[in-house]
Amino acid sequence: MSKADDFDYEKLLSLLPRHKILKPVDLSKAKLPIWRWPPLKSYNGFTSDERIRTWQIGTYLLNIGAIKKPDQCDICKKVGPVGFHSENYYDIRMDPFLCKSCHTILHNRFKYPDQWNYLVNQNIEKVETWFSILIPTKVNLAKYIRLKFTKLEKSDRYFTANIQQNSWLVQLESEPINYLITQF
Ligand SMILES: [Zn+2]
Repeated sequence: MSKADDFDYEKLLSLLPRHKILKPVDLSKAKLPIWRWPPLKSYNGFTSDERIRTWQIGTYLLNIGAIKKPDQCDICKKVGPVGFHSENYYDIRMDPFLCKSCHTILHNRFKYPDQWNYLVNQNIEKVETWFSILIPTKVNLAKYIRLKFTKLEKSDRYFTANIQQNSWLVQLESEPINYLITQF
């Protein structure tokens, strides 16, 4: 059994943040941004389409002020510019915010595990954190969640909608702009 087989998905999901979705402050910027770069490699089993979709939704929510960006990195705690990092691309509210350096080291941990282990050890906290349990081996969180919520393994670009039942993100998927405007 590899380390990936032992990975505790439920623990990771429980340790990730839970951002509140706030009433938008600036709907003049209410537009899903367009991804202008090449497709992404999969991460945690999430496809390029899923990752890009989440980037669009996250950027959108930040632009309208529905998610408040903190002023420090969730790993190294340095105050400065931070950006979204997704572990679970099916729920934007669980995204930690990271500085560019920690974000790069995190995504490169499969290639450079020593750098990652060093970073984690430098920022270890008394309690377990979402990043302290990440391993430098690829895991498939997407598959775990799909099986848990729908018993479907097949990827779906708009999967967020399926597992976010009863939340407005369901509507966000089908009518990205109008629903948010009428909802608040
Ligand atoms: Zn950092």
